[in-house]
Amino acid sequence: MKQKVTFFWFRRDLRLEDNVGLFHALQSDFPVIPLFIFDEDILENLPKNDARVSFIYDSLQKINEELKTIESAILIKKGKTAEVWKSLLTQFDIQKVLFNKDYEPYAIKRDSEISSLVQQNGAVSLSYKDHVIFEEKEITKSDGLPYTIYTPYKNKWLEKYHLSGQAPEYDTKPLFSNFAKNQFEFPELSEIGFERSSIKVLPHNLTQIANYKETRDFPALDSTSYLSPHLRFGTVSIRKLVNWANKKNQTFLSELIWREFFIQILFSFPHVVNHNFKPAYDGIEWSNNEEDFKRWCSGTTGYPMVDAGMRQLNETGYMHNRVRMVVASFLCKHLLINWQWGEAYFAEKLLDFELASNVGNWQWAAGTGCDAAPYFRVFNPEIQQKKFDEKGSYIRKWIPEFDLGYNAPMVDHAFARDRAIATYKKGIIK
Ligand code: FAD
Repeated sequence: MKQKVTFFWFRRDLRLEDNVGLFHALQSDFPVIPLFIFDEDILENLPKNDARVSFIYDSLQKINEELKTIESAILIKKGKTAEVWKSLLTQFDIQKVLFNKDYEPYAIKRDSEISSLVQQNGAVSLSYKDHVIFEEKEITKSDGLPYTIYTPYKNKWLEKYHLSGQAPEYDTKPLFSNFAKNQFEFPELSEIGFERSSIKVLPHNLTQIANYKETRDFPALDSTSYLSPHLRFGTVSIRKLVNWANKKNQTFLSELIWREFFIQILFSFPHVVNHNFKPAYDGIEWSNNEEDFKRWCSGTTGYPMVDAGMRQLNETGYMHNRVRMVVASFLCKHLLINWQWGEAYFAEKLLDFELASNVGNWQWAAGTGCDAAPYFRVFNPEIQQKKFDEKGSYIRKWIPEFDLGYNAPMVDHAFARDRAIATYKKGIIK
């Protein structure tokens, strides 16, 4: 007779500590088999040396090393998720399947299909909130509708957080003896069909945010946390982080709330993935010039702040937040290219690519999103440079030829600004 087991399915929560779904799985009546599936539907769109796959692989290996010390191991599968689950359900006597919720439209559909499949096979499927402090409809206006403006959302978020004292943390370690003993082989990266990327996720660092409020906007200073890929893939617990931020740094806490704001916007308004949040902006006549787009992508626009940012992105998979705002505004307003082109380019390159934050921030920059910058606000890239990189240290880091005489701007700022305002004005549906 096969042994009855519980499965815990890792996805964007790649850690053993303070993991809600795992904590509950380890309390079930059956030994727990930890699982990760490399989802072919996602992998087939990625280059073979995708840096995010390397990061996921390394994070899983770390989990596996820890599990080996207690004679357990993680089961790694690759395939179409439903096919993998069908095969697991015949291979094992699965009583329960637990996982943490993912709020992206693709994941919601996938998880609902897998839950039905699990239930059809007589097992229990349970999902948990782990990726955020407040999910779905937990923070709403008094009429029950979702907030679309950040500041009242943040105030309600803080009120609710303080009411509950602090976010509970889940100590999984005392439950580790409930992992099933097994010796699953951990595959090579090449067996998953990928190569190691030369681009690496930077370690996160909370010591460098001591003066976050004053320094976070200056891209030459290492004064942000580099937490974004870790939050994306769950190698850090949001609950521990928020509890820390609440004691140490309210400005930093506000940024973590922006992340949840955009996650709840995507959950409540899934059309934002492919459409303007505000349909009134659907009439804008974008130029969508492919040559202009190529110059933007390669960091050769002639605007040093824009070019430095794009080169940082291309070389490292990261770009400082202030510069992300400048390059995004430049693409939409100066070049009149649809934000969706920029969003897709960022999605391909960013190690911290997170659909909710990417779409939310791009629409913010384009002026088409919720609580967005007004359309007539057009960042001047030269003024941004003077304000936030006065000595040019950031620019010189990413544009080594800068002092040899730099390219002329591809479009005049005053001309582009007037053209953008006129095009938006004409396109907005009243
Ligand atoms: P810190 O300043 O240390 O901030 C700490 C954390 O707060 C971040 O890791 C992130 O989780 C959150 N945060 C900070 N700013 C924002 C913000 N504006 N919106 C949402 N969350 C925020 N962030 C992503 O994680 N994934 C994306 O795909 C993404 N795309 C973006 C696209 C554009 C056009 C812009 C303007 C911003 C985008 N951001 C995105 C937000 C922000 O730029 C990054 O989160 C931040 O630069 C990551 O660096 P950090 O971890 O050092 O940030």
